[in-house]
Amino acid sequence: MQSKLASIGVDVLKGVGPKIQEKLARLSIFNLEDLLFHLPTRYQDRSRIHPIGSLLHGQTAQICGVIESANILFGKRRSLVCKISDESGSLDIRLFYFSMAQKKQFVAGQYIQCFGQVSHFGRNFGMIHPEMTFLKDNPQPKLEEGLKAIYPTTEGLQQRTLHSIMAQALNYLSRNQVTELLPNSWLEKLKFPPLKDALLTLHHPPLEVSLDALENGEHPLIKRLAFEELVAQHIALQRIKSNTRSHKAISIAPATEIRDRFEKDLPFSLTSAQQRVIHEIANDMKNDYPMMRLVQGDVGSGKTLVAAINMLSIAAQEDLQSALMAPTEILAEQHYKSFKTWFEPHGVTVVLLTSKMPAAEKRQALSTIESGEAKMVIGTHALFQNKVTFKGLALVVIDEQHRFGVEQRKTLLEKGFQANNGQHQPHQLVMTATPIPRTLAQTAFADLDLSIIDELPPGRKPIQTVVISDAKREQVIERVKQACMTDKRQVYWVCTLIDESEELQCQAAEATHQQLSEQLTQLKIGLIHGRMKPAEKQQVMNAFKQGETDLLVATTVIEVGVDVPNASLMIIENPERLGLSQLHQLRGRVGRGDKESHCLLMYHSPLSNNAKQRLNVMRESSDGFVIAEKDLELRGPGEVLGTRQTGVIEYKFADLIRDSELLPEVYACADDLAGHHSEHADALCARWVKVGEQLSRV
Ligand code: ADP
Ligand code: MG
Repeated sequence: MQSKLASIGVDVLKGVGPKIQEKLARLSIFNLEDLLFHLPTRYQDRSRIHPIGSLLHGQTAQICGVIESANILFGKRRSLVCKISDESGSLDIRLFYFSMAQKKQFVAGQYIQCFGQVSHFGRNFGMIHPEMTFLKDNPQPKLEEGLKAIYPTTEGLQQRTLHSIMAQALNYLSRNQVTELLPNSWLEKLKFPPLKDALLTLHHPPLEVSLDALENGEHPLIKRLAFEELVAQHIALQRIKSNTRSHKAISIAPATEIRDRFEKDLPFSLTSAQQRVIHEIANDMKNDYPMMRLVQGDVGSGKTLVAAINMLSIAAQEDLQSALMAPTEILAEQHYKSFKTWFEPHGVTVVLLTSKMPAAEKRQALSTIESGEAKMVIGTHALFQNKVTFKGLALVVIDEQHRFGVEQRKTLLEKGFQANNGQHQPHQLVMTATPIPRTLAQTAFADLDLSIIDELPPGRKPIQTVVISDAKREQVIERVKQACMTDKRQVYWVCTLIDESEELQCQAAEATHQQLSEQLTQLKIGLIHGRMKPAEKQQVMNAFKQGETDLLVATTVIEVGVDVPNASLMIIENPERLGLSQLHQLRGRVGRGDKESHCLLMYHSPLSNNAKQRLNVMRESSDGFVIAEKDLELRGPGEVLGTRQTGVIEYKFADLIRDSELLPEVYACADDLAGHHSEHADALCARWVKVGEQLSRV
């Protein structure tokens, strides 16, 4: 069964040639149905102008004013600064990327309209790379009707293009039907509006629809679609799970003797949570079908060791091997060092394989992997490239699984199929440091079995967390200086900005880097963000790890799992915009040494009551699971994006935390569909779950 819209390719739309088609394909959009289910993540109100004097830090606003001046500043980074004013105040526009032709467009006395995010710039307010319309002599801004939808997009595909092709698809939809795939009984029971109305309104909401209700997800139209997606994803995950069980794997007996010897040699004893999870994994590996288990454990809970001990059972078997894959080179090297210290005394050969290793070393590693001499292989995704042949891969461990891209996880899965001449699949263990409440985890990971390490090794120093207003920014900067200069410690400064574009996030980090460099001239300051090339990121991260930089300005992409014990202070800007779990994750980058660590949550005032309560949770608790539960209880608009950004839960539209109250009905409806309407279930999965996404859930 296929719905009609799904049978019409996007190429029927005007303006969709091969180039655009290729970009749409990257978003998994191939037909009109895919397109119509590509829903906005945010909306913008461009129906009015904000007086400059009323702007707040962090706000997304539209302004219109007269150009006062435009000058090129030569600081550490060249920038073009243009002063704009209206009757209520003035503001600076700052461009880091500009041409002389662009500079000439800023003519003093002429009018300009800008749309963008407002941020502090030294003592002034400013906008970095806003969208600009030069109005010349005409003081009348161009305003839009209705709320403007902002779509998730991909490199090189403009919102404008998406809007133009979406308008055609909506036009088509208004004249045709979209197939309802949920049973009528459920639609009636939950009092859901018709699908067609939901789609038409969500893509093009009239102004009278509450922007708040849309953005915080309370609107029934949103619930309607979220429900559909949750049902589809749940069915898909259950199918993956039953599919896994039909494959063959090698049954592994725990190597008790060598494990006991190893554990005795450790300078500490395992926590009871570690022991329990080690046992759960060992039990799974006894099966003759592949294990698919997820280990969740807070930062520092000792996940590596839990994996390592089970890898030891594989090493004890002739011709069998295990592999541990880490998301970055630094992390892989860090693991390799630990494994060597742990296991070489016990006669186990551990080998490192990363893409940047010198050719000779790599050849050597490859040959020991092929011969079976390497019993444990630690590496990055280089582990699963074509040149690598395992003698007998029986267990794959993926550390920080959410940091891997879809493509990498897909290759890994395919490689897995080929292990042992296609006869057997390796057991798989995935680890993540993002604690999410158990009820939600059961949904998000319905295809995996779940183990939780809910205990930290004794003697950890909790990170002292302070909630502070950004009115005290100067004091905070002073504190950074003291930490670096007097105490010889290192500091992270994390910039957050919620926007559809990663570009803007990076620009905000660049601006902060610039500003801190001007104010803290004595310090060596690094910058890391998502727009940098992997090699560049690696270099910056390494420099920080080696202590060559004092202060690291970062976006939320900051490397996971990396130990920089000397980093003992972290500043997080605008923490009120992030989910608590994400804040907890970020905060876990400090507190890895023996000195007391501090985290300053520098909010922008005024803070809502809910936000205050939420940040207080961070001050009071250092337990990731407690924090995750509180996040769920005190949910506010911020963490809707927060969970998405942690990358663990990859829903297109639904948000587990926001929509958690739907879950009991989701399970029941999924069972009903899978059991009684399997054709509808297929079509629903095709609508919401793309093949690549299924595969990505290794
Ligand atoms: P994560 O769960 O964040 O990956 P790691 O596995 O990196 O944590 O462990 C963090 C640190 O704690 C490591 O230095 C590890 O050797 C140490 N560790 C692990 N288990 C224990 C334990 N039971 N007691 C004390 N220290 C431990
Ligand atoms: Mg780890």
